[in-house]
Amino acid sequence: MFIDGQWKGNHLEQINVINPADKEIIAQIPKGGGAEAKQAVDAAYKAFKTWSQKTAEERSHLLFKWHQLINENKEEMAKLMTMEQGKPYKEALGEMSYANSFISWYAEEGKRIYGETIPASDSRKRLLVQKQPVGVVAAITPWNFPAAMITRKVGPALAAGCTVVVKPAEETPLTALKLAELAEQAGIPKCVINVVTGNPQEISEIWLKDERVRKLTFTGSTEVGKLLMRGAADTVKKISLELGGHAPFIVMDDADLDKAVQAVVASKFRNAGQTCICTNRVYVQESVAEAFSEKMTKAVIDLKVGDGLKEGIDVGPMINEEAVEKVKEHVADAVSKGGQVVCGGEELNKGEGYYFQPTVVTHADESMLCMNEETFGPLAPIAVFKEEDEVVQRANHTPFGLAAYVFTENIGRAIRISEQLEYGIVGLNDGLPSVAQAPFGGYKESGLGREGGHHGIEEFLEVKYISIAF
Ligand code: NAD
Repeated sequence: MFIDGQWKGNHLEQINVINPADKEIIAQIPKGGGAEAKQAVDAAYKAFKTWSQKTAEERSHLLFKWHQLINENKEEMAKLMTMEQGKPYKEALGEMSYANSFISWYAEEGKRIYGETIPASDSRKRLLVQKQPVGVVAAITPWNFPAAMITRKVGPALAAGCTVVVKPAEETPLTALKLAELAEQAGIPKCVINVVTGNPQEISEIWLKDERVRKLTFTGSTEVGKLLMRGAADTVKKISLELGGHAPFIVMDDADLDKAVQAVVASKFRNAGQTCICTNRVYVQESVAEAFSEKMTKAVIDLKVGDGLKEGIDVGPMINEEAVEKVKEHVADAVSKGGQVVCGGEELNKGEGYYFQPTVVTHADESMLCMNEETFGPLAPIAVFKEEDEVVQRANHTPFGLAAYVFTENIGRAIRISEQLEYGIVGLNDGLPSVAQAPFGGYKESGLGREGGHHGIEEFLEVKYISIAF
């Protein structure tokens, strides 16, 4: 663990880090708990005074150094990520540049934290508004994007002048620790970034109770997000929650089907379907349903599944046994309710790693689990619809509201549907909408707040109004 500018934790009980491609133990990391969580806050609190008083330019300079080192080490980090998380190496490299784009973007944006002057109604007054860093930030992150979910939080937090305590997922701590090592090498002062690994409940309990932690930023499941939201109430922390999704992918009868197939395959099967904005349900308009399903199935059959470090692999292993079991359960449930498996449907290389075949199920409807709950795996159910109003209503039927996709060549339809979707992100003829400069986040139970863009840095700032009378 990296706490108070030191590498610690060898004396503690250790947790195994497993490669999901072959179930081998690749490393051990300390099982930190309450004591380590508190030490990390002590350190971050101590560092806040000096870090927040640096100029935005000075902070930017250090963030750019970190960015440069990450760039120089991206191949090594991508390999590490593939080994602990499973995604194919080329996807891991892609994540490294996506992750790093948050650091460079916020290194710039931190210099544009502007205030305001407001016209007063009394000529002997001046009204000023300043933005100030919120203080110590606690960040809790998931395993599916081991680098990006950290930089998307730590980049804007540091640029705003906050210091951080980070708890990465138990499954993928190595990428997080490597990021901390590079931050140290970049000269980011001691204690500004602290990384605690270990027991999530014990660590978060301490952070939630500690009133010096002024902001909690969490990415993970809706279930844990709700727990943390309740826990943050006692000290009235600011919170940002990036939670689960259930993205509909809508294909209208005038869509460019080849473009839609390419996008749905990328959106559904990257990271073996373990992405919060990945397609969960495909809705195709009746007259093109057969043609679309055939083209999609052909593309899915071509996907190569295997160890992400091997050449030519499109889909890696899933994170663990439970993840595979959930896909199995969703496939069996869909079949029991009339779904037809047109490709895949089975676990692969059982005993070797956690693999599941990329799967397409047709004749799907909303009675099925996979049309309501996040499968978080390589299963694409296809449902058929008749009318525009019908598909909007069906697309909005879950409690989630993170990302939705619409494919149509008709501009009027495109605008009408996008505006009616209760989702924070709409990919219009676009299967990969996420970028550093745009706001990312959900409606409804998919979360609170936004990451990315100028919206993302506001989450780490307090607004101070100064009224001056003379
Ligand atoms: P998870 O909620 O189980 O874990 C996320 C983090 O919370 C991990 O660090 C974990 O150790 C910690 N955690 C678990 N239980 C906790 C507890 N009781 N108290 C405090 N911390 C706890 O989620 P996961 O399985 O790691 O990730 C998958 C989920 O994350 C999916 O639902 C996915 O949609 C969501 N996700 C959302 C986004 C987004 O931006 N909206 C991005 C990626 C993943």
